[in-house]
Amino acid sequence: MTRYIFITGGVVSSLGKGLMAASLAALLQARGYRVRIRKFDPYLNVDPGTMSPYQHGEVYVTDDGAETDLDLGHYERFTGVSARQSDNVTQGRVYQTIITKERRGDYLGATVQVIPHVTDEIKAFALADTDDIDFVLCEIGGTVGDIESLPFMEAIRQLHNDLDRGQSIFVHVTLVPYIAAAGELKTKPTQHSVRELTSLGIQPDILLCRCEHPLPESERRKIALFCNVRPEAVIPALDASSIYGVPAQYHAEGLDAEVLRAFGIEGAPVPSLERWDDIMDRQQNPEGEVTIGVVGKYVGLPDAYKSLHEALTHGGFANRVKVKIKWIDAELFEKGDDVAAFLEPMHGILVPGGFGVRGSEGKIASVRFARERNVPFFGICLGMQMACIEGARNTAGIAAASTTEFGETSEPVVGLITEWMSAEGLQKRTAETDLGGTMRLGAYPAKLTGNSVVAGIYGTDEISERHRHRYEVNAGYREPLEKGGLIFSGMSPDGTLPEIVERPDHPWFVGVQFHPELKSKPFDPHPLFASFIEAAVKQSRLV
Ligand code: GLN
Repeated sequence: MTRYIFITGGVVSSLGKGLMAASLAALLQARGYRVRIRKFDPYLNVDPGTMSPYQHGEVYVTDDGAETDLDLGHYERFTGVSARQSDNVTQGRVYQTIITKERRGDYLGATVQVIPHVTDEIKAFALADTDDIDFVLCEIGGTVGDIESLPFMEAIRQLHNDLDRGQSIFVHVTLVPYIAAAGELKTKPTQHSVRELTSLGIQPDILLCRCEHPLPESERRKIALFCNVRPEAVIPALDASSIYGVPAQYHAEGLDAEVLRAFGIEGAPVPSLERWDDIMDRQQNPEGEVTIGVVGKYVGLPDAYKSLHEALTHGGFANRVKVKIKWIDAELFEKGDDVAAFLEPMHGILVPGGFGVRGSEGKIASVRFARERNVPFFGICLGMQMACIEGARNTAGIAAASTTEFGETSEPVVGLITEWMSAEGLQKRTAETDLGGTMRLGAYPAKLTGNSVVAGIYGTDEISERHRHRYEVNAGYREPLEKGGLIFSGMSPDGTLPEIVERPDHPWFVGVQFHPELKSKPFDPHPLFASFIEAAVKQSRLV
C-alpha cells in the first residue's frame, strides 16, 4: 500500500519545507522504505522555465526533461531518487490540462469548476505513478492562507477522505519566533496557522516547528494543547548549521518515529544513518580549504545557483576539504575592474550556465585568465560556450568569434540549435519558437574520446547528462579550435553536437555543454566536481 504524507507550511515562506520533505524522505528510506517526493506549486506559470532566477531561484532539470522547482534538487540529493516530470505540478499546468480538455469537449457539456474539476486534476497528479512506492511525500508550495494554494489544500483534504483510513497524514511546518525583547519563543503564530488550516478542513497530525532557540517542554505542551495534536507530535526543528545534518537532527527529535506512529506502523526497521554521519564527518573535519571563484550573472541570489553550490561542496567532501565559494559578478570586469585582482586568490575558476549577453565579456576575460595563468577552469553550459569563444578569439585568430545568442555575428562559433535527435525523434526549432519548454532539455548521451582527460575522470567513454540550452558550439569550428589546443573530447553519439571541450596541456580545463551539478549527491559526488576540486587542492599548494 502506498501511503501519502501531505506537507504544508504556515506563518512565513522560506521555512525550508523542501529540505524538511527531503530529510523525512531520507529517514524513511534509511529504514528501508521506497520513497518519492512531489511538489505542488500554486503559481500560474506552467513551469518555472521562463521565470527569472531572481524570481524563483534555479530551474532544476530532470532526466525526462522537465524544468522544475529547485526543491526537486534537494529531493534528489537527499534520496538519490531521480525526479520525474510527474513530480512537480504547478497550478498553471493544472489549468492548462483542464482547458485543453474543455476545448476538446471532454467534459461533455458540464460547467467546469474549481471543485470538482481542478481538485480532481490535482488529485490525479498526486496519485499518478506511485504503484511501487511505500511513501509519497507531497509538498504544497506557498503558505497556508494564500489565495493561490486553496485548490491544493482542498484537494489534499478530499484525498485524505478518498484514501483508506490511516493511508495519509498531514505534516504542517511552522515558525516559532524568538522575541528578543521578551526573551521568549512565541507560539501564537503557530496557533493561528493551525487554526487557518483547520478552517480548511485539515487537522495536522504532526507539527514541525522551526525555531532559533530550543523549544522548552512547556511551550511544546502549549502548542500541542492549542493545536490539537499530541505533545510528541510537536517536533522542534532548530536551525541547523548544515543542511546535511538535518536528517540526523530530525531523527533525534523523533520525526520519523512520529510519522510511523501516525500511520500506525509498528516494528519498522531502525534507520541506518551511516551515510549521513560520514557526510557530516567530512563536512565538519576538513583537512584543507580551497577557494573557487564563480564568475556569473545572478550572483546576488545564491538560490540561483543552488545545485552548483551543492555540487562544489560535494567535490569538497570527495577530497575532504572545505570549499569556499566567491561569487563574482562578471559585469565588474566589463566596468573596468581588474580581472587579475579578483581572480589571483582563486584556486579554481568556474563560469556557470546563464542566458544573455550581459556580463559575457567579463566571463570571456575570466576564461582567458584561467587559461593563461594555468588555474583550474570549469565551464558549464554558457561557460563552455564562453570558453570556445575565448579559444577562438585568442588561440585560433578568429577575432570576431561570438554566439548568435548575443546578436548577429560573422563568426558564429556558438549558434542556435535548429535540429537534433531526442528519444522522441527529430526535434526542430527556429528563432520564432515559443520560449517555454522548447530548449534541448533533459538527459542526452555523449561519447567521450577514449584517451581524453574527461574519459579518465568519468572512468567510461559513454555518459548521460542533463541539458538545458538553446545554442550549441558549432562543430564547423572544431579544426581551428583544436589547433589552438581546445580539444572536442565529448560529442553527441551522432557526432554532430559538441558536448565537452578540454585543454590537455592545461592543469585542468574542461567545458561541458550539460549541467553535471544536477546529478551530484553528497554521498556520491559528481566525478567532474570531485576532479575539479582535486585540481584546486593542487593549485592551492602552488600559490
Ligand atoms: N544561453 C545558453 C544557451 O541557451 C546557455 C544556457 C545555459 O547555460 N543553461 O545555449
